[in-house]
Amino acid sequence: MKKLIYLSIVILAFLSFSCNNESKVEQNTTEETTTLNLSPQLKMAVLWQQTAAEYQALCYQAFNLAKMQIDLMLANQVDPSTSAIVVDIDETMLDNSPYQAELILKGEQYNSDSWNDWCRLLQAEAVPGALDFMNYANEKGFQLFYISNRKEVVLTETIENLISVGFPMADKEHVFVRTDESSKLNRRAMVEESCKIVLLIGDNLADFSENYEGLTIEERSSQVDNEKSMFGVNYIVLPNPMYGDWEGTIYDGDFSISDTLKDEKRNQALKGYK
Ligand SMILES: [Mg+2]
Repeated sequence: MKKLIYLSIVILAFLSFSCNNESKVEQNTTEETTTLNLSPQLKMAVLWQQTAAEYQALCYQAFNLAKMQIDLMLANQVDPSTSAIVVDIDETMLDNSPYQAELILKGEQYNSDSWNDWCRLLQAEAVPGALDFMNYANEKGFQLFYISNRKEVVLTETIENLISVGFPMADKEHVFVRTDESSKLNRRAMVEESCKIVLLIGDNLADFSENYEGLTIEERSSQVDNEKSMFGVNYIVLPNPMYGDWEGTIYDGDFSISDTLKDEKRNQALKGYK
């Protein structure tokens, strides 16, 4: 009898162990399937920037328009020595798609450490048309300012990268990186202390005006409608499908939410049909 009781206890213990293990396996599988890596979702955007000649054509189109605007200003007797052209750097002057491609290849997502490492490599090349335009504007005597949200820790390398590619006026007097705020409003105001800003070039609407900061998807769209006559005239826009404030609006401005929630919000933002 004792033997039978002992055997029953052993069998029960085994069954219980086996059940616990099975439920752990099940739990692990569930966890694995819910851990989402958003990195591959960047692939088509990066491929478009790196392989589509349409990207190249849009950049040329933007800088041809910019050139037409400054030619018009000169024809209208605008004094270039007191007129500033303000440009953004990333995806406006410099092409950082190799950094984005590398993220996909490594299955990683953007983080400031890997971004700063990329900036320190000085490998970013010019966006198509950017260099010719900036050299042309420089020859015509305009004041050129680079306002970027790269951080101060890579200011020296950013200037070195711009110089190595051949950009004019790339020095500490003309390159303003991000210090304590991402808004470019105060840095534009610094430029306006000595010059009148006559043209702004960027890939992000906040490169043009503070009116585009902190808005929802719908509000950004309405604001673009309100200022539609400025695009191609005062504001020159470069294409950037890889990142920007537009992405943050999908998450209601909160980039700190989980990847799973980001994916859900991306799906919710898609407009299909019934
Ligand atoms: Mg940019």
